[in-house]
Amino acid sequence: MERDRTLQALAIHTERIHDDPVWARLRSLLDVMSRRSIRATFFVYPFRAIVAGREEVALERVNRLREEGHEIGQHTHFYAGEAIEKPNKVVDLSDDNVRCCLERDYRWLKRIAPPRGFTSGGWIVPEALYPALAERAFDYDCSSRSLVIKAGDAGYAAWLERPEVRRFGEHSLWLLPTTHTLKQMLRLPRWAGLPGAPRRARYRLVYFHDYDLLRWAVYVAAMQIVRFSGIRMTCGQVAAAIVDAKGGLNDC
Ligand SMILES: [Zn+2]
Repeated sequence: MERDRTLQALAIHTERIHDDPVWARLRSLLDVMSRRSIRATFFVYPFRAIVAGREEVALERVNRLREEGHEIGQHTHFYAGEAIEKPNKVVDLSDDNVRCCLERDYRWLKRIAPPRGFTSGGWIVPEALYPALAERAFDYDCSSRSLVIKAGDAGYAAWLERPEVRRFGEHSLWLLPTTHTLKQMLRLPRWAGLPGAPRRARYRLVYFHDYDLLRWAVYVAAMQIVRFSGIRMTCGQVAAAIVDAKGGLNDC
């Protein structure tokens, strides 16, 4: 089926939904999306709102995203303690801190609905991450990148050109690599293939951060993508379609 061959989703890393200027920009994008029945996945990092004392505002806004049909995923940075802004922030990738940050954000998001998808802050994939996601029954993770996206710390990076599955006991966790920034999507809209699927099957996952909408160029690019790219699925729908298309296929 056509929908199984062309799988593309929009991932919005949502860190500052509690800031009114960010919300205003997001709202105008959401209005266009809703008129065109476009759904996206908002990977929410709730801890910034908590530290800023604006968590109820964030909760109400994230709930609205969900009511408008978008998927709510989890986005977590592994900073030590409450110092999460430059220049004081320090990344702590000890197993204890990774698990503690994951659990804190997961609990907050569970007040809305348990998230099924995850993306790591700074593309960092510490050893404890995938097992911890599997324990919480996450279906998929988008922290891996195709080589197109080179930003961030290379130390704990996971590079992947196309989706693949990892098994943790009985649980399957799908790794859906993030393949494009907005700019790359506009300039270099290439596709990735899908493993074990017919040759015409193709995949891509475009991302941006909510606070980057405050930059005019990013806001315009995001508007162009929602208007003209044909992207309308959530990452969760893409993950489900891959599982369907593969119909219990072999591991890849
Ligand atoms: Zn982020």
